[in-house]
Amino acid sequence: MPKFYLTTAIDYSNGDPHLGHALEKVGADCIARYRRLRGDQVHFLMGMDEHAQAVVQAAEQNGYSPQAWVDLMAARFLEFWGRLEVSNDDWIRTTEPRHREAVTELLRRIGRHNPDDLYIGDYEGLYCVGCEEFKQPAQIANGRCIEHPTLELVPTRERNHFFRLSRYRDTLLQRITSGELRVEPAIRRNEIVRLLEDGLQDISVSRHRQSWGIPFPDDPDQTVYVWFDALINYLSATGFPAPGYERLWPADLHVVGKGITRFHCVIWPAMLLAAGEALPGQVWAHGYVQWEGTKMSKTAGTAVTLGDAIERHGPDALRYFLLREVGFEADGNFSWDRFDERYTADLADGLGNLVSRSLAMIAKYRKGVVPPATDDTALDQAGRKAIQEYAGAMDAHDLRGGAEAAWDLVATANLYIQQVAPWKQAKEGREAELDVSLAALARALYRLAVLAGPFIPGKAASIWESLGASGRPADPVWDGLGAPPVAGLATRRPETLFPKPASV
Ligand SMILES: [Zn+2]
Repeated sequence: MPKFYLTTAIDYSNGDPHLGHALEKVGADCIARYRRLRGDQVHFLMGMDEHAQAVVQAAEQNGYSPQAWVDLMAARFLEFWGRLEVSNDDWIRTTEPRHREAVTELLRRIGRHNPDDLYIGDYEGLYCVGCEEFKQPAQIANGRCIEHPTLELVPTRERNHFFRLSRYRDTLLQRITSGELRVEPAIRRNEIVRLLEDGLQDISVSRHRQSWGIPFPDDPDQTVYVWFDALINYLSATGFPAPGYERLWPADLHVVGKGITRFHCVIWPAMLLAAGEALPGQVWAHGYVQWEGTKMSKTAGTAVTLGDAIERHGPDALRYFLLREVGFEADGNFSWDRFDERYTADLADGLGNLVSRSLAMIAKYRKGVVPPATDDTALDQAGRKAIQEYAGAMDAHDLRGGAEAAWDLVATANLYIQQVAPWKQAKEGREAELDVSLAALARALYRLAVLAGPFIPGKAASIWESLGASGRPADPVWDGLGAPPVAGLATRRPETLFPKPASV
């Protein structure tokens, strides 16, 4: 089984997660669940970035010590990811000893492999606490950071350790344009290539006398710059530097937001090159969730909280909506109206209705037992086509395309019921034909439980159970999709999968 190590960005512990965080975690989870279906040995990492200055500020404002605050935030985030059925295998916090040791060791390795790459210099510039970085003129509009127009930039001057990032421009260009380090989607790769072509400046990688953070090796007056610290989490979670960490490293996929590609496609690989470590295989940069046309951030997050969005139609419906409607590539809009429409059309009237009608007919005409007919029907052909399209899309992280392929099959199956009219076959005593229709519907439900699983894991498991299938739809059952083993399954009537709320 090939290993597949994927990660999401680790989040600042300065407030509750919002829909933007949820899109990233749910999208990565969808990919992780799909890879498990295909039989990969998946290792899925998420975590918290706890050494930011914004964390110290949030802790002070709320009357906590930094450590008590990050403990509280980590628990809050985990609670939300649990509610959203996110299936991460590991959870790293940058205040953990395993991470502090890895950061110290990576810096020492850079010093050993490329002693000239770390040097001491003076830095003067405008610092954005939101981004935790010095901003270049191109990143500033109206005297504010483009990403954080509500925050004041802080003029900062100090003596720091620098990393000779400029040295890695040519190597990074070569790795990225050759596809050795894949940066997707293409629009993000082109941005990074342009940035590299413009040339790189060295970066400051420490801060003077900050009490909250990891001490710079052999220079306790300096603290490791929070981004330099945070990026290393992907490596520290593999057990680095203890022997055996190469079982996981390099990462196969880093899932991040489009606003932090420079850190993941330039600074991070340069750090790894400097330390003599292997580079990740791919960085996937998703777009933002927009609310009435603007980025979903902490301020917009008060208009629609993640808790409210989960409550609306349940966690599976939110997962589905984020990946199908908002999308995992470009920016997409969240609106209650669209959410309600999708819920009703695709989930309640679409999949929910299909499952309930099919199982009701198997119960009524065959005492709940799936007939052993194996005739290849038009619905089976549509099923095989859906599987192929689904796999093509999911392999390319086109999650919307994957959902479309699965839900096209839902529509085809609902149409199939209208066309073959099993109630007519029953009434007219065409028993063999009725067997063929009911078995074909059971196979469609089996396929759909598997294909829909990465999007709506909870509901997919309910369909699977109602079908009487063994194991779970999340097991690596992909190879069985060609000829689903449904003959003789004892089905049971499911509870309503997607109830229609009175307000919709
Ligand atoms: Zn900023």
